[in-house]
Amino acid sequence: MKGDREKDVVYVSLKSALMEEGCPICLLVSKRRDQWIETLFYELITSSETRKKLRERGFCTHHLWYILEYLEENLGIDGLGISIILHDLLSTSIELLESMSVPEKRSECLLCSIIEEYERDYLNSLAEWITTQEFMKLFSEGDSVFCLPHLAALLREIDGKHKLAILKIQLEKMKGILERLELFINKSDYRYLGNLKGEEAKARYLASQVLGGMDL
Ligand SMILES: [Zn+2]
Ligand SMILES: [Zn+2]
Repeated sequence: MKGDREKDVVYVSLKSALMEEGCPICLLVSKRRDQWIETLFYELITSSETRKKLRERGFCTHHLWYILEYLEENLGIDGLGISIILHDLLSTSIELLESMSVPEKRSECLLCSIIEEYERDYLNSLAEWITTQEFMKLFSEGDSVFCLPHLAALLREIDGKHKLAILKIQLEKMKGILERLELFINKSDYRYLGNLKGEEAKARYLASQVLGGMDL
């Protein structure tokens, strides 16, 4: 069970994510993912438990590169965090190979399972609150639009009447993006090439995000 404070934090962040552009679940999960990476960096230096977990699980290719880039770009440090991660992962692989045990299969990525957990958390909370008048109004008036994977996951948790109301709002928003794309396509002419950016270019980003969600 979540504590009241934690519940309040989720409540407030879901409300503000419904006002922001893009998928609220993708947005919140991506923020938590980055916070997790920053915490990981500090824990690597202080917690042997974290290093042990990391050695046992490791990361998938996508997340290993993401963490590497994130730490280099955001923390502005000398690569100490990622060096510790790589040192632990590499020395574990060396030990395994020395004992002639070549892993056939990659173990499940630590960050993939953390992200799944965050997604479940936010989706469960949103399923609980989105049917309230306050949340419905925020979704209807805000700039958010669900990505299709999170929309499907959310609708599975919601009853028929509210499902229809959410779908109606979502469809209006998707049609709005479609119109913005059409506007862009119609205006795209060799004469204008290079001058079309900003607002219109954003439609492409939003359309991609609706179709596939953010790259988490
Ligand atoms: Zn999403
Ligand atoms: Zn992963």
